Amino acid sequence: MAILEPRKFRVTENRNIAEGVFGLKLVPADGAPLFVYSAGQFVMLHLQNPDGTVWAKAAYSIANAPAESDGSILLAIRLRGDFTHRAELLKVGDTVLVQGPYGRFVMGENAERNVMLAAGIGITPIYSMLREKLATDPEADIVLLYSNRDVSSFTFLEELEALAEKHKGFSFVAALTGETDDPWKGERGRIDEVIFRKYVSEPAAADYYLCGPSDFVTGLTGILESCGVNVKIQAHKEVF
Ligand SMILES: Cc1cc2nc3c(=O)[nH]c(=O)nc-3n(C[C@H](O)[C@H](O)[C@H](O)COP(=O)(O)OP(=O)(O)OC[C@H]3O[C@@H](n4cnc5c(N)ncnc54)[C@H](O)[C@@H]3O)c2cc1C
Repeated sequence: MAILEPRKFRVTENRNIAEGVFGLKLVPADGAPLFVYSAGQFVMLHLQNPDGTVWAKAAYSIANAPAESDGSILLAIRLRGDFTHRAELLKVGDTVLVQGPYGRFVMGENAERNVMLAAGIGITPIYSMLREKLATDPEADIVLLYSNRDVSSFTFLEELEALAEKHKGFSFVAALTGETDDPWKGERGRIDEVIFRKYVSEPAAADYYLCGPSDFVTGLTGILESCGVNVKIQAHKEVF
């Protein structure tokens, strides 16, 4: 990872965006322009002690698309351990250090169809890629299969439904692995080969972007292989 100087950013928004997920909007504190980044890249977020020394840092994908950026970055952070619980306490006006952008999990140019496979908070880089692609190519042929255990954990659910409504070439499929008493119009259960083939015709003709926990990415990679996809060339992956 190249060494990039951490820059001071100011919190302009911190709000709950799904069950156990908060959205942190950050702008450069000195008013200078935001760095140039590609959809899918991440930053290192540094939280500081009162004396300015760095308390701890962790990686977060940039959830908003460069093409739609208003000079801020949006991070969607799932509450887990100490770091994320401390980050959740950040208030508008607080400052943090941001280092980056980093990462090679970015979209290629060539495929006629792009299939995005996300689980849990792994939606963040995928969401940025999706918005970027649709902002620059509104007719793009994209399928998103997005898996979560609970209905309330689907981050950006309304936004994804609105994008599917607006863009005829974009198909959005939510897959719920847990139970719900409410009516559910998406798929149920883990994404297996049957569900996958239902939405992805001619699998070998697409490029793939996978992000989620390692068991999800490994499982879906196996399905791609058994569907004749050359995963070394056609599949791009990020695990977290
Ligand atoms: C490329 C990439 C992109 C990612 N994107 C996202 C994303 O978009 N959204 C998301 O939610 N997650 C994302 N993650 C996961 C994220 O980086 C963290 O792993 C996750 O948020 C861990 O949260 P935590 O609260 O359990 O952190 P912890 O594991 O508690 O801590 C993270 C860091 O803080 C230090 N730390 C924790 N507690 C203390 C303490 N008391 N004193 C001193 N140091 C401490 C740890 O040593 C560690 O270095 C991404 C990971 C990667 C690799």
